[in-house]
Amino acid sequence: MSGFNSDANNQLILALSKGRIFEDTLPLLEAAGITVTENPETSRKLILATNDPNVRVLIVRATDVPTYVQHGAADFGVAGKDVLIEHGGEGLYQPVDLQIAQCRMSVAVKSGFDYEAAVRQGARLRVATKFTQTAREHFAAKGVHVDLIKLYGSMELAPLVGLSDAIVDLVSTGSTLRANNLVEVEEIMDISSRLVVNQAALKLKRARLQPIIEAFERASKARK
Ligand code: ADP
Ligand code: MG
Repeated sequence: MSGFNSDANNQLILALSKGRIFEDTLPLLEAAGITVTENPETSRKLILATNDPNVRVLIVRATDVPTYVQHGAADFGVAGKDVLIEHGGEGLYQPVDLQIAQCRMSVAVKSGFDYEAAVRQGARLRVATKFTQTAREHFAAKGVHVDLIKLYGSMELAPLVGLSDAIVDLVSTGSTLRANNLVEVEEIMDISSRLVVNQAALKLKRARLQPIIEAFERASKARK
């Protein structure tokens, strides 16, 4: 395989995470005439082919998508607003809100914990989250003092076992919270996924990227 260090400006590398973002990006790619010809759920390959020999897809962790694109290891990618805030967005052009993988970032507590009273009384809150940047900004803006506890998953567990008073996590239907006896007490922001493009690639590969950006834009507008 020659593509990765090739400076051929017609080669495109797209970074995607498995699961909902991959699934929801497929129709957008189809709208741009690109069909992924391998399935990441059944293949162990991390570099997938498409119908276009000049377009390949990297399968990476959701939180790693901005990093691959920032450093130009991928020309473009799809990442959640949650992930982009934590990353900071350096070196990334974010031309399109794709309206996919929609959910919200919320504060949740164990059922019975009086969050409003704790905030009113100026209590110091222990908050467990994967999204420390978003959580820090949210509570600073409210003037609430927090001790942030960084977790990498299963945030719902933290209030149940006394690791924290609250969590900041992504919520869509709320069924995971309910299943764990937690209640959503505050919505921080709406979340959806964005197209991210490496800023240098946008200049060097404009001829290849622009039609794809436009097709994604049209297809995501149709979703609204
Ligand atoms: P991971 O568990 O590896 O973080 P996910 O597929 O759960 O991967 O999340 C990838 C992205 O999808 C998140 O960054 C977020 O933007 C979005 N997302 C996460 N949870 C939900 C959800 N419940 N509903 C819709 N979108 C979500
Ligand atoms: Mg998840």
